[in-house]
Order: sequence, then C-alpha cells, then structure tokens
Amino acid sequence: MREYLKFYIGGQWTDPAEPRTSEVVNPATEEVCGKVAVGSVADVDRAVAAARRAFPDWSTTTGEERVEVLQNILDVYQKRAGDLAAALTEEMGAPTALAHGFQVGLGAGHLTTAIAVLKDFVFEERRGATLVVKEPIGVCGLITPWNWPMNQIAVKVFPALATGCTVVLKPSEQSPFTGQIFAEILDAAGVPAGVFNLVQGDGLGVGVPLSRHPGVDMVSFTGSTRAGIEIARNAAPTVKRVTQELGGKSPNIVLDDAAFAENVGKGVATMMGNSGQTCSAPSRMLVPSARMAEAMVIARETASRITVGDPGGDFVMGPVVSEAQFEKIQGLIQQGIDEGATLVTGGTGRPDGLEKGYYVKPTVFAHVANDMTIAREEIFGPVLTILGYDSVDHAVEIANDTEYGLAGYVAGADLESARAVARRVRAGWVAINDGFDFACPFGGYKKSGNGREWGEFGFHDYLEIKGVLGFAPDEAASST
Ligand code: NAD
Repeated sequence: MREYLKFYIGGQWTDPAEPRTSEVVNPATEEVCGKVAVGSVADVDRAVAAARRAFPDWSTTTGEERVEVLQNILDVYQKRAGDLAAALTEEMGAPTALAHGFQVGLGAGHLTTAIAVLKDFVFEERRGATLVVKEPIGVCGLITPWNWPMNQIAVKVFPALATGCTVVLKPSEQSPFTGQIFAEILDAAGVPAGVFNLVQGDGLGVGVPLSRHPGVDMVSFTGSTRAGIEIARNAAPTVKRVTQELGGKSPNIVLDDAAFAENVGKGVATMMGNSGQTCSAPSRMLVPSARMAEAMVIARETASRITVGDPGGDFVMGPVVSEAQFEKIQGLIQQGIDEGATLVTGGTGRPDGLEKGYYVKPTVFAHVANDMTIAREEIFGPVLTILGYDSVDHAVEIANDTEYGLAGYVAGADLESARAVARRVRAGWVAINDGFDFACPFGGYKKSGNGREWGEFGFHDYLEIKGVLGFAPDEAASST
C-alpha cells in the first residue's frame, strides 16, 4: 500500500493546505493500492508562486547549464526506471514488459531527445534587419492523463525545462504514483527549487484553478476533448496559451498491395496494445471491401493469440484502468452489436476465468459503417472496427470523415502510392507501414487538439517569439 501525502513545491516536500486524500484502486485486483493527498486552490497558488519565483533565474540559465540538469535527471531516471514501471503497473494495469520497456522507456527516449535538441537549438537568429529571439513563455501548468502516464509527463516537462520555463505538474488522479516518483527523481537530480512543482488532485480541485490562474502563462493539456474544451474556456479570460492533445479515432488504411495478413495482424495487435487505451490507436481499420472476409479470419486469429490477465504475470494485455472505463467500453461493445456490426471476436463480459479486475475481451467488429457509434466515438478500450472501402479515394474519404485528426496509418507495398495517401489524411501524424521516431511531431488536427509535442517541435509551444528591430540587414547573420 503506497502513501503519498505531500506535494513537491518550491523544492520542498510540502503538506497540502487541506488534509484530504483520495484512494487509488489497482484495476487488476479492484483493491485499494494507495492513498494520495488531494490538492486545492491554495496548493495551486503556492506552487504557481514558487514557479514564478524560480522563473527569472531559470529562464536566464544557458542552454549548456540546462543540458547538465537534464543529464542529471536522465541518470537518476534510469536508476529509478524499475520503480516507475512497478508503480505504473499498480495504478493503471500495464503489463510489466509494457510498463518497463515502453511506458517508462518512452520517458527516457523523450529526455534523451530533449537533451540532443537543446544542444543545437537556436534561441536567437537574425532575419534581415530583425533579430528573432525565442524566449521561454513563463510558468506552465501541465495537466496529464492516466493512459501513458510517464510518456505524457515526459513530453511536457522536459521541453518546458529545456526551454527555460518553470512548471506546475498535475498528473491524473487515477495514476498519481508515477508523478510522485517523477518528482522524487527531479529532486534527487538537483533541479533548482521551484523550477518543477507537483500538485496532485482532480480536475475540479486542481486542474481548474491551474487553468484559470493569472500567474500561469500557458497550460499544456493531454486528455479528453471534453476537458480540453473546459480548460480553454477557463483559460480564456487570462489569454494564456493553451495547447491540447486530445482524443482520436485514427484510420489504418490497408492498401490492396500491402502484405495483407501481416498488416491486418499488426493493426489488430497495435490496437490491443495498452488495452486499447492509446489516443493514437489505429481504431478504424480500412480494408478493400472484397477482402473483408479474409481480414476477419486474420483478425480473429490474431486476437485469439492475445492473452489477457494479471499485469504482473506473463500476459500480453492487462485490465483497463477503472470500473468506469470498463462499463463505458461494455456499453459501446453492446451498441456495436445493436447497430448491426458483425462481431468477429470478443464481445461483452470478462474473458473466461477472470472474475475480478477490469478485464475486457479483445474485441473486433467487421462490416462496420462509418456512421455507427463504434466508428465515431473514441472507445479507449481493446475494440477494433474494420470498415470496407471500394477505391483509394473512398478509403481517404472514410479516413477523413471523423471529427478527430490525431493519427493515421497507411500500409502498402508501393511506397510512392502509400505516401500519396498519407499526404491526403487529415491528421497530425501518419505512419507508413512501420516506423517510430522521437523527432516526429505529434499532435492533432480538428478536435484532436492543437500544438505539437515530441522532438524539436515540442519546444516551440513553450517559447515566445520576440522580434528585435534596429539591425542593419547586412550585419552578422545569426547566433545561437
Ligand atoms: P480526462 O480529460 O478526464 O483527464 C485528463 C486530465 O485532465 C486529468 O489530470 C484530469 O484530472 C484533468 N481534468 C479533467 N477535467 C478537467 C478540467 N475541467 N480542468 C482541468 N483539468 C481537468 O482524460 P483521461 O480520462 O485521463 O484520459 C483519456 C483521454 O485522454 C482520452 O480521450 C485520450 O484520447 C486522451 N489522450 C490524448 C492523448 C494525445 O496525445 N492526444 C494522449 C493520451 C490521452
């Protein structure tokens, strides 16, 4: 049983203003596995004040000085990777291999990338008669979700610190353990007091005051479109910058010339990864209509190989994060059946032999029409929809017929054709065949948000751009 009863404010482990706590439930056992302090307006005020006090010094450190601090963080982070992974498995049910290799591994990858980007980043450059100066925006409120907790914290905190901003982090109340260990890591790494602050709590008690706060210059949010809209509304009176990474319903276009069995199988496996709780999950697979039956056979076979069970054991898939998510997913699976989609495998109820824990059957629907609820709503569970298309134009039309635009996937043997299709997908990130790159910008079109994270693009949102006039056009060209 974990107990985290203090926040990290101004470099000190600090009691919350009010003695309130919330319980964290392990989704694999449905039992309480931890108690965490819950913050309020007064805690947000203290954390923002600490971040404001730290800003003048931190924002005027050199890039080299910040590289050194980030390097220290990386050293401690790597030593604590096992602790982070164990916490993550407890709080959100990620299987050990996924928690360690992927969830925590991504955090290290983002930090390594931030260090490399910072070493070469140009903060000042001459453009003709103008000096363009990129300056840290100020104090940033960072609000993160539970589904990839370490990744989401990493993609915000590291570029913010690298650019010279100071931050107040509010992790999800459903996955507070990783945030707490992350604060211990930054403390041990010697991050100057007030540069990084942590306040735990829920959206209403901490997220709302952080969004409204006049001392916060920017809010970077990842989570649901619903909360993203509320945050933008709450932030509007102070005209602070708001960046949002929101939901998705991403298309996976399997072109006719693709290695069909391989790509359909891969699409199923990717969808079921992290129990389907991934904003960029390939949740709408588009296959040529004439090959729907073939796709169904492959999908059934692949899904049947996905073992579900105790995330501490040797299983591919763990539970979903909470009872509320479990119930929501069950309702959407039932809706798919009621609306006439063909259930290929899975369905409602727990997998055989699992009476406890929020376990969902890996579920695949075929012959899905794009106007069905399961093709339009983000399910955020292990539920794949397969839709048929009649031509490449038709595939692109279906792919873009969604209010979201976070990610897309295209599989095809002829790379030029696949790239042409990728260019037509209205989404912030499109993967052809395979591929992974920490430098690739990540963020959404349409209701999937605005702003970009990852790599160098992740720096831009944390910077103000100042133009300084008064230079002769032929003066020395640029400096870093
Ligand atoms: P959520 O929106 O309920 O919560 C996310 C965070 O926002 C939590 O820390 C929560 O406490 C806080 N919050 C909630 N309401 C708030 C409010 N009114 N003001 C301020 N803060 C508030 O989302 P969730 O259930 O934790 O995460 C799942 C959602 O996140 C999915 O929709 C998923 O697609 C999305 N997501 C998007 C990305 C991305 O990069 N686009 C990544 C991961 C998750």
